Amino acid sequence: MSGLIKTNPAGFVHTPTFKIAIPEVIALRVYGQIPVSEIKFTRRNIYDHYGYRCCYCGEKFQTSDLNLEHIIPVSRGGQSTWNNVVTSCIPCNIEKGDRLPQEAGMKLLIKPTRPRWKGAQSLVLPTFLKIKTSWQKFIDNAYWNSEIEE
Ligand SMILES: [Zn+2]
Repeated sequence: MSGLIKTNPAGFVHTPTFKIAIPEVIALRVYGQIPVSEIKFTRRNIYDHYGYRCCYCGEKFQTSDLNLEHIIPVSRGGQSTWNNVVTSCIPCNIEKGDRLPQEAGMKLLIKPTRPRWKGAQSLVLPTFLKIKTSWQKFIDNAYWNSEIEE
């Protein structure tokens, strides 16, 4: 065994009878399930998801000028879920009040959607972390081959 590789940049693990070259990269070629990371339903994530726009008039606002708006009002059984909560400016929020959009004669310019975790793309490496050249092609692969939204 030890006769196969004489030098290895990452070093060796020694056992009483032989040594194993430490790999710099371990590629996982087959896996049963990719862990799904749910985007948490938080005020910050909701504002981010809708790009700080009012979903009724489509205008962009400061955080302080936006509200979370239940499309089906809570008083009518509306739930706090990605499908029922959008961002709205204060004037649109007041105009809609405790009504359904159709009752208020209002239309959602931006439809409610559930954000999707963007896979490896959403992983931002800290700048101080030097990427070993042997890792680079795997990182490039992840960048180019991970699913992106339209
Ligand atoms: Zn608005």
